[in-house]
Parts: sequence; structure tokens; C-alpha cells
Amino acid sequence: MQTNLHPDILATDKGQRADAILRSCVHCGFCNATCPTYQLLGDELDGPRGRIYLIKDLLESNSVNQRAQTHLDRCLTCRSCETTCPSGVAYGELLEIGREHLAGETHVGEAIKRGWFQRLQRSGLVWLIPNATRFRRWARLGNWFRWLLPAMLRRPLPKLESNRAAPKNLELNPTADNEVGSVLLLDGCVQKAATPSTNSHLQQLLQNHNVRVERIAEDGCCGGATLHLGDGDGALGHMRALLDQVGPWLDKVDAIISSASGCGVTLKDYPRLLAQDADYLPKAVKLAEKLVDASEYLSALPLTTTSRLPKGVTAQAAPESKDATGVQLKVAWHSPCTLQHGQQLTGQVEKLLTAAGYLLVPVADAHICCGSAGTYAITQPKLSEQLQQQKVAALQAAAPDIIATANVGCQLHIGSAAQVPVVHWLTLLE
Ligand code: SF4
Ligand code: SF4
Repeated sequence: MQTNLHPDILATDKGQRADAILRSCVHCGFCNATCPTYQLLGDELDGPRGRIYLIKDLLESNSVNQRAQTHLDRCLTCRSCETTCPSGVAYGELLEIGREHLAGETHVGEAIKRGWFQRLQRSGLVWLIPNATRFRRWARLGNWFRWLLPAMLRRPLPKLESNRAAPKNLELNPTADNEVGSVLLLDGCVQKAATPSTNSHLQQLLQNHNVRVERIAEDGCCGGATLHLGDGDGALGHMRALLDQVGPWLDKVDAIISSASGCGVTLKDYPRLLAQDADYLPKAVKLAEKLVDASEYLSALPLTTTSRLPKGVTAQAAPESKDATGVQLKVAWHSPCTLQHGQQLTGQVEKLLTAAGYLLVPVADAHICCGSAGTYAITQPKLSEQLQQQKVAALQAAAPDIIATANVGCQLHIGSAAQVPVVHWLTLLE
């Protein structure tokens, strides 16, 4: 694609990068075929190719406009288009630049003014989500008064896991003689508040296999949600704070594990995101070198696990199902976009679950987003609900006993509409 970016934009590092990304697009349109918003709305400007043109126009004219904001807001940042693109266009990075431009961060003139409701909503999300205590209190309060809330507030309200859901008898770390590895387990923000048992299960599993597990009281938010809302500076603040917390551990463990794929995709990207920060870049590079998804780490361990349903879940009366007591449990696996498109990790969770004895049922359109997409369920409720309904129907088509996923956002979003329990896959492995 030919470009002619505004000289003021081209004079910036982000402008240079945007120019290179734009030039790599050959506008073939293959990406539209796997874009959820293009499939739903059928509008070229709600597909990746159209959005690329909108961003090009913004950066060439060094201006902002309402039309571009509307269509960029509707993008899920699922990056399904990146997986499909034959030219390797870094769409997610370009979108980030486009959104920051609209927010006035790379743009030399005025930022686009949002209406009061959107401003209030976005600043509320940026204040609430990265803080686990605040998020938990808000969700608890919201659930008490659920019946009073309008549907648009009630629907995205997460049901919090009870503290009792976490295993209580976490084993101690192995002795130096037995230790086969050491990891730092990151707790993050939303997962820590809503589904803390995920990391408890992972800790137990690792310690059962002689891996030393370290955790820190407050590692904090990775900055991903703030970044998606177009607040690049705010996101960098969270990243620096997390690096301050994690810094002392970087040389003390073999690996750093994120069990929420939405956080993992951002953490792995820290070297790029902090490239201009000479003070934090070395720590960002070291973190990214050691950062692995839980599935990557567990795939390298000789695991001894057997299938079972979590407490309180009953298997469907399917004759072909068998577990340790004679039932093979049917699992519908939902791979989050941040795992399959963002981190390009496919097949590992499926292998681990199959090896543990679960029967994975086929799921149609597995590459399509569930509509959770960070804060999308709140900022774009109608589109989010349509995607949620489609996803739940696809996941439940083969009558599974349970649905498993790898990101807390997807787990809560799908869980609020599914007829069967939705769990983090690690819950099935412990
Ligand atoms: S992003 Fe990739 S798939 Fe989409 S139009 Fe450009 S080159 Fe084609
Ligand atoms: S990130 Fe997802 S929603 Fe956005 S353009 Fe790409 S495929 Fe479409």
C-alpha cells in the first residue's frame, strides 16, 4: 500500500512504525473473512482492511474524525485478522497507534471529544479494572443490588468465585534436592479478584510435580485493559509498576507464568511497548524472555493427571463418557483470542486435557472471538452479546459436560450465558 503520512506524524517513532505496517498491507481483503465484526455488520469499515484505510487517512491528514472513532471502537482487538493475513500485517499494533492518535497521544492537534457518557464510562473502567480490591468490591456490591440494575449494567457484572473455591491444602515447595524448577506465578487484577482458584490450582499442580512456586502479594495489572481503551500513557504507568514489583524476582526463578492469556499477551509484548524507556527496557526484556503461558510450562513437565469434574459439577448421562470412576468427561474447549491469535499458541491445552483423559468435543468457528475482549462487553454491549450467543451455541452444540477456557474474561463472559459450567482449563488438570 502506498502511503503519504503527514510529516509531523512521520517525525515520530510511532509514525515511522505505522508507515511500515501500512506499507506491508497489499489490501487483498483475505482478513475480512475471519473478522467477527465484519461478519456481523457486513460493512467494509468494520473489517480490518477498512480500518487500516481509516487509520491511514487519520495519519496522512493528521486529523481526527468521528467516523474513524466509531469503526475503531467496534474492533475487538481479537487479532484474528493477523492470523489470516498472508502478508504478516501487524494490525494490532497499527490499531493501537490509531486509537492513541484519536485520544490525542500521537496527534499534534486536538484529540477527538467523546460524549460525557463515554468519557465517564472509560475513565470508570480505567479506574476500576486494574485494581483487584476495587474490582472485587464493585462486583460484590453490584451482585447484591443486581435486581435493581438496568440490563446493560447487569449483563457484564461478573459472578465472583467464593474464597472457599480455592484449594486450602496447598503443599509446600519442594526441598532443594527434589526441586525440578522454579517459577513466579503472576496473579494480575481481574483474575485475582474474580477467580483466584485458578492460580491456586496451578500452584498445587506445580508443587505436586516438584516445581517451586513463588507469588508476590501485589504484582498488579499488566496494563492491557488500559491500553485497549486507548490510554497508552496510563498503560505504561501500570507496566512500570508491575516491573518494579517483579524486578527482584527476575534472576531468582526459571520462568514467570501467567495463567490468564489476556495478561500473557501484553506481558510478552513489554519490550516493544517500553522500547522508548531506557530505565525499564532491560527489565521488560528479561520479563518477556522468562514469561510463559501456563500451557507452555506444563507441556514441558511430565504430568501425572487424571480427568475429573470440579466439585459440584455433574456429568451428562452420555453413554460414551468415562472417567476414573467410569465416565469420560466431555469438554468443549474455547481458545481465547489472546492465546490463539495474540500468542499464537494452539494445540497445547488440547493435548494436555486429552492426555489427562478428557474427551474434547468439536467446536465450530473456534477462531472467532466470544465478545468479551477486555472491556468490549461494556463499551459495545450489543455486538458483544451477539458474539456471546453465537459462541455459547457453538460450544454447547455437542452437549459437553463442561466448557474450558484460558482467560478470566472469556470464562466470566461465556459463563454468564452458558447452560453448563465454564472453568479455567487448569481447574481440570490439578
Ligand atoms: S491486512 Fe493482510 S489480509 Fe488484510 S488486506 Fe492487508 S494484506 Fe490483505
Ligand atoms: S482485531 Fe478482530 S475485530 Fe478487529 S479487525 Fe481484526 S479480526 Fe476484526
